[in-house]
Amino acid sequence: MRASEKFLSALEAGLAAFGLSLPPGAREKMGRHFALLSLWGRRFSLTAISGAEEVAILHYLDSLAPLAHLPPPEGPCIDVGSGAGFPGIPLALALPEVKFVLLEATRKKVEFLRRAIEDIPLPNCQAVWGRAEEYGRVTGYRESFAWVVARAVAPLRELAEYTLPFARLGGLFLAYKGPRGEAELAEAARALSVLGGEVSEVWHYSLPGGEKRQLLVVLKVSPTPAPYPRRPGLARKRPL
Ligand code: SAM
Repeated sequence: MRASEKFLSALEAGLAAFGLSLPPGAREKMGRHFALLSLWGRRFSLTAISGAEEVAILHYLDSLAPLAHLPPPEGPCIDVGSGAGFPGIPLALALPEVKFVLLEATRKKVEFLRRAIEDIPLPNCQAVWGRAEEYGRVTGYRESFAWVVARAVAPLRELAEYTLPFARLGGLFLAYKGPRGEAELAEAARALSVLGGEVSEVWHYSLPGGEKRQLLVVLKVSPTPAPYPRRPGLARKRPL
């Protein structure tokens, strides 16, 4: 079987296991993103996961998992630290009527995202080059998104300062975490409260193959105070 066939058949099985359906053409477009990732991955240092089935499950299905559990977002979304486009690109393909911003600090990754957006094509996505600590202060970004998603970017205590400023009141910050998710929540209790977040739930799920995941769902309950996010580097050096 060719890599693209292996990818699509693993993705199909995973979607069925999660009870997820996708709009027409979305699978093929995920296949196109996968092909670009395979072609450019090494050059742009995009991912360590390389087998077609592994990529289908550990990147694409994992990115889509919240849609098996939560109602879809009612407004624009932002993926903070999108890397090669996870979870933002699979989500944008599953929700073609929702606008997605893919925010990424590394220039060459943004170059890849822009090529992918043009090539796939992904008209509901925009790749933005910059740091969350800067864009979190910009009008049109701050307190503007229904969902703020982030995967594999930073420990929650630090990540909350990158993400919560983007969420509008009543919006959600979804942190894709592994088995340490709940422990990170305990460490981040103060940060979440200072930044205007309240834990809504922790959804435990397993991917086909058995990898355990936790989706931390944080509700934006009050505006993020003006001093946050602090200047680049401070959330890491002195987490709240
Ligand atoms: N989310 C992707 C995934 O799950 O495959 C990429 C994960 S990668 C380990 C983390 C990414 O976050 C890197 O591409 C990095 O450049 C980006 N990043 C880290 N801190 C950031 C910040 N403060 N603002 C924007 N991007 C950031």
